[in-house]
Amino acid sequence: YDIPALRRLDVAHHLPAQQDYKLIEDMGGSRIVTHAEGCYITDGDGNRILDGMAGLWCVNIGYGREELADVAAEQMRELPFYNTFFKTATPPTVELAAKIAGLTGGKLQHVFFNASGSEANDTVFRMVRHYWKVKGEPNRKIFISRWNAYHGSTVAGVSLGGMKAMHAQGDLPIPGIEHVRQPYWFGEGRDMEPREFGKLCAQAIEDRILQVGPENVAAFVGEPVQGAGGVIIPPEGYWQEVERICRKYGILLVADEVICGFGRTGEWFGHQTLGFTPDLVPMAKGLSSGYLPISAVAVSSDVVEVLKTGGDFVHGFTYSGHPVCAAVALRNIEIIERENLVGKVRDDVGPYLNAALKRLEEHPLVGETRSIGLLGAVEIVADKKTAARFGGKEGNAGPVVRDFCIDNGLMVRGIRDTIVMSPPLIISRQQIDDLVDIIRRSLDLAMPKLKA
Ligand code: PLP
Repeated sequence: YDIPALRRLDVAHHLPAQQDYKLIEDMGGSRIVTHAEGCYITDGDGNRILDGMAGLWCVNIGYGREELADVAAEQMRELPFYNTFFKTATPPTVELAAKIAGLTGGKLQHVFFNASGSEANDTVFRMVRHYWKVKGEPNRKIFISRWNAYHGSTVAGVSLGGMKAMHAQGDLPIPGIEHVRQPYWFGEGRDMEPREFGKLCAQAIEDRILQVGPENVAAFVGEPVQGAGGVIIPPEGYWQEVERICRKYGILLVADEVICGFGRTGEWFGHQTLGFTPDLVPMAKGLSSGYLPISAVAVSSDVVEVLKTGGDFVHGFTYSGHPVCAAVALRNIEIIERENLVGKVRDDVGPYLNAALKRLEEHPLVGETRSIGLLGAVEIVADKKTAARFGGKEGNAGPVVRDFCIDNGLMVRGIRDTIVMSPPLIISRQQIDDLVDIIRRSLDLAMPKLKA
């Protein structure tokens, strides 16, 4: 590749996701990633970088899986596209729906397909409102979700999400969405026992339900573990309380598994790890390990029985159930099963990452580390005792440490003052040691640059 030319074209024509375009221009263009293999990406300057983010929380089986390329090519030759609008379906689409129903288990026996996680949440939004109308309770329109949640970048996704900067830019949320506090123990609850704090956060949901009237509430939506919000692992008992509250008021419970799904937390789904039973489950990312864009919403039989009495559900996308994406997703799941990646996360590399991160807590800048499966976070503080942040406010340290990590060969994200990670599920113990060593070194390098 002619990398300097590509970077010039990038500045001249390409608008990358979630970026300050002026900054990209001043940098002379984006980093051009040209190759990837296993757990490593390679950029145009020849840097080999350990991918602590599995792309964007998605390349669960790692890079370079030839068999996925073969499956895609075979399916393209056989049938590159057909839709599901005309009382039609394709073999891989139907097989994938059945496969997902088997993995989610219980009452989640039906699957609606989309192309992205955001679309999956839009589907949830529209399906849930339609459900309540069909059921004869049309006032149940309100969705309750949490501050700092991430549910996507479409209008409904941003609205359900709790990112204030995203709300501000789009004059969102749309009406009918209520945000409550997140179960962020390190940031907001350290003066309490975690369990007690988790209860308090769940109580905030019940308080809001009572405030707006239970008869007006359609659903509660939450990521089992908030990902883009900073890998917020809820205290034990939180989800059981949330589930109890939803059941008490007859409210649907939606678990956004876009990040947590497909082995990330050490079970197939985050709600299985955390022990609760949702009614709808949007999923994406690990469904195809990012090799092709596909997402799904698993829906309980109870919900579908009601939908069956409502005529057409006038909702769908051109690429709902795309056969090539479905064929790739099926093979991706087969690889996860064949290589026992879920068990490996649960019993081997997940606990290993947790122990390696715990050792990092000796570092003077580390206030807390936490992980569940292969989803981890490091909290950077100016003062370990008070957990004060650098510069007296949130967000100064994360980007500095992240940049040192990338310069030293590790791709991670810096969210406010938290370094987050979500490596491919195939990562080895040695690679986890490398990952944690680079974070430690980067914290050392950042120290003189950060001002208390
Ligand atoms: N939901 C969650 C929990 C996510 O983390 C994301 C993306 O990061 C989305 C939804 C949106 O998915 P997509 O970017 O595929 O639209």
